[in-house]
Amino acid sequence: MPRHTKIVATLGPASSDPAVLERMLRAGVDVVRLNFSHGKAEDHIGRARLVREIAKKIGRTVAIMADLQGPKIRVGKFAEGKVMLEAGQPFVLDAGRVELGDLSGVGLDYKELPRDVKAGDTLLLNDGLIVLTVTAVRGEQVHTVVKIGGELSNNKGINKQGGGLTAPALTGKDMEDIKTAMSFQCEYLAVSFPKNATDMEMARQLANVAGEPWRHKPGMIAKIERTEAIPQLEAILKASDGIMVARGDLAVEVGNAAVPALQKRMIRMARSMDKVAITATQMMESMIQNPVPTRAEVSDVANAVLDGTDAVMLSAETAAGKYPVETVEQMVAIAMAAEQAEETSLDADFVNKTFSRIDQSIAMAALFAAHHLGCKAIVALTESGSTALWMSRYRIHVPIFGLTSQPVSQHKMALYRNVRPHLVERIEDREAALANAEQLLVAQGFLKPGDTYAITCGSPMGHPGGTNLLKVCRVADEGR
Ligand code: PGA
Ligand code: MN
Repeated sequence: MPRHTKIVATLGPASSDPAVLERMLRAGVDVVRLNFSHGKAEDHIGRARLVREIAKKIGRTVAIMADLQGPKIRVGKFAEGKVMLEAGQPFVLDAGRVELGDLSGVGLDYKELPRDVKAGDTLLLNDGLIVLTVTAVRGEQVHTVVKIGGELSNNKGINKQGGGLTAPALTGKDMEDIKTAMSFQCEYLAVSFPKNATDMEMARQLANVAGEPWRHKPGMIAKIERTEAIPQLEAILKASDGIMVARGDLAVEVGNAAVPALQKRMIRMARSMDKVAITATQMMESMIQNPVPTRAEVSDVANAVLDGTDAVMLSAETAAGKYPVETVEQMVAIAMAAEQAEETSLDADFVNKTFSRIDQSIAMAALFAAHHLGCKAIVALTESGSTALWMSRYRIHVPIFGLTSQPVSQHKMALYRNVRPHLVERIEDREAALANAEQLLVAQGFLKPGDTYAITCGSPMGHPGGTNLLKVCRVADEGR
């Protein structure tokens, strides 16, 4: 059984060497993430080119996801680069401060903070490691007392417990970065800190305008990492193509303990709305330093797979860690073992499901037939990839092959759970296209004589949304 769960790997200094990147892609990376919080435009452009080259050379479909920085809400800089805060001491966050920070306080990159907080609020700095309680707001100054101390260094992030910072999701830098990302036609664009559907709609519009010269429209991924996004989840999903369970910032805002249940809910909701889900952050964190993961990390990855995530994501592990290739290899092994244990319940999943679209009902019919007949493969001849997406929203142990003549669809499908994308030439004649599909799967060893498979297509061929035929076939014995 081929691997179902997809792997997203963030690129960075640890994965800049072409030989290392090639080993990572060969080990199983399906989507690379370019993190626009770091590096310059040229770095991302260079990385994107390298990924395309290597993927082509090794014959794998690898999608590119550009991840916008968003409104990182940060403190300013310190005279000594950092300070050591002690519990109980006062500390002032001052939007008006021009001199460098010291033990009494620090300036703010985010000037709106005094408007967004009030006495009694809890602020979390440096990913929640430092906790401040707001005692008073005076003009541009936020007075606090340190609740949990620690080392605070230049430009560390600030979160407010429970959410409520008003910074808009798209900054001027993000708008420039969208143009950079469209210049290499990233298949996915991840938006950081969206609060609502409007943030996603705006980002999509900007991306589509920037992609216009190439007629390129990326898939939009909403990173769920703000308290405000939780009650808006359904609307955000509707406005997006997928979500990222961005557990790093999310955990700081809603509290660590709330995250596992939210992860399950988000993944379930995304799948039920025909959207994709990526589970992110600290999945294999200890492998930044060590050649093997902890037991807890193994369980975390396995549980995300059992939750039904489309993809599991690596951040610093592959961007800045010591063992980028080994981390991918381990993640692949964990995902595959978890998939073996996954239970399918297709019939139960179909109870109470209704479909109003012809293409969607054909996709479901193919799943149902393949499941009960024990087919070796489900093949979707698809223009947009949506037939393959619908099929992949259900748990089934039959691999789905998405065959398309559109390179963008081919790459977008790289993120869909249990979908293996293939680029095929465009054939107008239906019988020829079906024969071509079978030949491809036989040549690649996925089907052999005597195997049955289910295949869907449109008649006439080649119209997005035109899927209206299902055929169940048996591969003819050799010599016949
Ligand atoms: P980041 O997003 O790595 O860009 O912060 C992921 C997260 O917050 O978990
Ligand atoms: Mn984040």
